[in-house]
Amino acid sequence: MATSKRDYYDVLGVSRSAGDDDIKKAFRRLAKQYHPDANKEQGAEARFIEINEAYEVLSDPQKRAAYDRYGHAAVGNGGGTGFSDFGDFGSFSSINDLFETFFSGTAGAQRRAGTQRGADLRYDLTITFEEAVFGCQKEIELPRWETCTNCRGSGAQPGTSTARCSSCQGTGEIRRVQQSIFGQFVNVTMCERCRGEGRVITTPCEKCRGQGRVRNNRRVVVNIPAGVDDGINVRVTGEGEVSARGGTPGNLYVILTVKPHHVFKRQGNDIIYELPISFTQAALGDEVEVPTVDGKATTLKIPAGTQSNRSFRLKGMGVPVVHSSARGDQHVIVKVVTPTNLTVEQKRLLEEFARIEREQNDKNIFDKIKDVFH
Ligand SMILES: [Zn+2]
Ligand SMILES: [Zn+2]
Repeated sequence: MATSKRDYYDVLGVSRSAGDDDIKKAFRRLAKQYHPDANKEQGAEARFIEINEAYEVLSDPQKRAAYDRYGHAAVGNGGGTGFSDFGDFGSFSSINDLFETFFSGTAGAQRRAGTQRGADLRYDLTITFEEAVFGCQKEIELPRWETCTNCRGSGAQPGTSTARCSSCQGTGEIRRVQQSIFGQFVNVTMCERCRGEGRVITTPCEKCRGQGRVRNNRRVVVNIPAGVDDGINVRVTGEGEVSARGGTPGNLYVILTVKPHHVFKRQGNDIIYELPISFTQAALGDEVEVPTVDGKATTLKIPAGTQSNRSFRLKGMGVPVVHSSARGDQHVIVKVVTPTNLTVEQKRLLEEFARIEREQNDKNIFDKIKDVFH
């Protein structure tokens, strides 16, 4: 089926020394003349594809240079069925490579464009302690690739049509028969030229230059649920990037950093609060006001004889469990503070207290000794 290919310069009707502008002009004129929408003559489509192929090579300085030196073989647009490429077993570096080549056929076929998912995006967001506890709505701005509105992601200028890809005859796949120790097998890969779509664009979209997507700065509202914690990431489905030529967009992942609070600490869904009390409050007992994360104070009863580091639980006053009505507790940890800078009066009373305490201790010791020697 392999027919001899015409020289690309002949196809466009330009000399080998033609400049970029001349090549472009010749292409435009011929593409218009042979466009399948306008020209219904037999062979017009084949001619149109040939013109596109020639232009694709001659408009690219690198490809053109390679073509000038080595001809059609150098630019990979074989245009044939690909039965020419007989694999040499010696080129496989290991048996694994061989098996990968065997099975890559199915994978290649599944990789067809259109099913491609766009890239996921990551955004680092810092929120306050309260915002993490009660949830919040945040508007963030992020640069991302979005579907081009001009061509709706097709990459083709509206009003123009696409042409069948000549490299794969519109199948989107390149099939090559290869030889191995197991015999002959067919290696199927995605067509590089049309990226598996089977069709190529003839006139690229002016806005996105044929990419089907443009880079935008987009404001996205992110709902942060109540109860999130430092390091958690919130997924916003479909707010990632689109891949080239449409497909499902990726997701946006918002990675949270929670600012520490000046009085509250967090332990999972519980909140830890340290309450300083005087030693008389600890000894005699008291009722004190304790702040909670809700912003309201609650009364805590400290019983007489409370030791330092004793913990009191305020049930259900902690952090909500994400996507649940359950809530953790607040733990109030009492810290007994030793008094400093005593007044004369306070000092006198404490010395009196100390004297009584000593007498009490001496008596206790005497009782113990008596017990031992009894
Ligand atoms: Zn576009
Ligand atoms: Zn193709």
